[in-house]
Amino acid sequence: MTFTNRTALVTGAGRGIGKAIAETLAAKGVNVICVSKSAESCGAVAAAITAAGGKAVARAVDVSDGPAVVKASEELLKEFGKIDILVNNAGITRDGLLARMSDDDWNSVIQTNLTSCFHWTKAIGWPMCRNRWGRIVNISSVTGIMGNAGQANYGAAKAGMIGFTKSIAKEFAKRGVTANVVAPGFIKTDMTAELSEEVQKGATALIPMQRFGEAAEIAHAVAFLASEEASYVTGQVFAVDGGMAM
Ligand code: NAD
Repeated sequence: MTFTNRTALVTGAGRGIGKAIAETLAAKGVNVICVSKSAESCGAVAAAITAAGGKAVARAVDVSDGPAVVKASEELLKEFGKIDILVNNAGITRDGLLARMSDDDWNSVIQTNLTSCFHWTKAIGWPMCRNRWGRIVNISSVTGIMGNAGQANYGAAKAGMIGFTKSIAKEFAKRGVTANVVAPGFIKTDMTAELSEEVQKGATALIPMQRFGEAAEIAHAVAFLASEEASYVTGQVFAVDGGMAM
C-alpha cells in the first residue's frame, strides 16, 4: 500500500478500532491526527505513535458538537495545509428495546454516529475535492446491514452512514475523492467487552469464523481503502466480519 506525504484524521482514535487505525496508518508513514472526546486518550495514542518513530498529533473534539467539528477542521486545515484521509470512526451505543428507548438514547446515537460524519465530511471533503485527491472511510457496522434487536438507534445511524457514503461517493467521484464504508462485525474492544457473556456466546454462534475479530483486522481494510492503490474503489461497503453478513 502506497502513501506519499499523506495526512489522515481519525476520529475515536483514543482506543479500540480507531486506535488500531491510527497506529496502522502511522506505521505506513501517514501523518495522523488522532481525534477523541478525551484529550488524555488521544494524547496517549499520539505520544505512543511518536515514540515508535511515527508522526501523530492529538486533538480533543466532541464529534457530536457540530460547531466544534467545523472549528477544529478549519484550524487543522490551516495547520497542516491539507487533510487527505478522513476516517469517521467515533461511535457509541445506547442499546435497548424500542419500547424502552428514550429520545435521548435515539438522539445521542444519531448525533454522535451519523451527524458527525456529515459535519466532518462537509468541512474536510470539499477541500479534498479542491486538491483532487482524497479518501473518506466511514466505519459502519453489520448492524447497519442486518439490523439487530435492541439497536434501533445504532442500526439507523449505521445504515444512514451507508446511504450517506454512497451519496457523497457520487458527488465526489469526478474530483479524485473516494468514499467507502467498512462494516465491522463483532470486534474485541471496550465496546463489546460491555456485552454479557451470554450475548457474546450468541454472537459468536452467528459468525462463520466462530470468533470475534481484532481491531487490527479492521485497520488493515481501512488502510487499503485509504491507499493510493484503492483509487478505483468508491461507494462500496466492505464487511470485515468473519463472514457474518454474507
Ligand atoms: P470504543 O468504544 O472502544 O471506542 C470508541 C472511541 O470513540 C473512543 O475513543 C471514544 O472516546 C470515541 N468517541 C465516542 N464518542 C465520541 C464523541 N462524541 N466525540 C469524540 N470521540 C468520541 O469503540 P470501538 O469498538 O473501537 O468502535 C469504533 C467504531 O467501530 C464505532 O463507530 C463502532 O460503532 C464501530 N463498530 C464497532 C464494532 C465492535 O464490535 N467493536 C462493531 C461494529 C462497528
